Amino acid sequence: MATPASAQRLKNQIALITGGSSGIGAGVAKAMAAEGASVIVNYAHSADEAAAVVKEITEAGGKAIPFQADVSKEEDVLRMFDHIREQFGTLHILVNNSGIQVDAKFVDMTLAQWQKVIDVNLTGQFLCAREAAREFLRRGPEPEISAALGKIICMSSVHEVIPWAGHVNYATSKGGIMLLMKSMAQELAPHKIRINSIAPGAIATPINLTARDTPEEERDLLTLIPYGRIGQPSDIGKVAVWLASDEADYVTGTSIFADGGMTLYPGFADNG
Ligand code: NAD
Repeated sequence: MATPASAQRLKNQIALITGGSSGIGAGVAKAMAAEGASVIVNYAHSADEAAAVVKEITEAGGKAIPFQADVSKEEDVLRMFDHIREQFGTLHILVNNSGIQVDAKFVDMTLAQWQKVIDVNLTGQFLCAREAAREFLRRGPEPEISAALGKIICMSSVHEVIPWAGHVNYATSKGGIMLLMKSMAQELAPHKIRINSIAPGAIATPINLTARDTPEEERDLLTLIPYGRIGQPSDIGKVAVWLASDEADYVTGTSIFADGGMTLYPGFADNG
């Protein structure tokens, strides 16, 4: 299959997508590869899924490799960045996408359930962003490749602003990502490093399969989405490509809500 026609907005750029083996990360990896980026498809455990994403990208004429690393472990993250430097020389784009849910009622939540989600969703983003920023600064400017020194996109959630009963570990991690992203963006903007978040609403991926198990559950979910459909990973891939491209060169420190209007308080549409 030929490379899909695109403006090649990420030509000659190296992009690491954490959790690129599944769901939103896979959608972002495919979208960035179609725009000319060489993509590292990181995964935690699912080697087969990562291989399938890499195969789909390479069969479409793109460039991709899989790489196993647990983003919550510093030694794994350092090993991944060493490998990227050895294989590609540098990195231009980090998509901090890996994330998990471990749900429990607040009074029943164990420390292990709390800690696991904070470790992967929040500490994982800190570790990968720190290594990416260090690599951007080490490499220096390449204006022929991108106006910015480097770009970091944090996968947040509508739950960076919407409280979520039964998921306090997850909502806390996403609220934390919001100020992690903004504080990093403030500190690193003078170095021409752009950092933004995407805050997806309900996207059809394995993470929320149980919330869409039955037609009734799907109907309930749709009452929260004024735009009237559940999102697809490709919806997020398009936003990520734009944010990473020079078209977004003046955009830093912001969260883009790609949520079909979920944060518009749809319960108030009929006068509350
Ligand atoms: P998913 O379960 O399909 O994918 C999660 C990915 O994270 C997988 O590739 C997995 O390998 C990876 N991962 C898990 N633990 C890891 C670890 N320790 N180290 C490295 N990688 C690890 O889920 P998804 O829906 O595609 O979620 C991706 C991101 O989008 C998450 O941060 C999630 O919070 C966020 N998000 C999803 C939705 C949604 O509706 N699907 C909405 C808002 C935000």
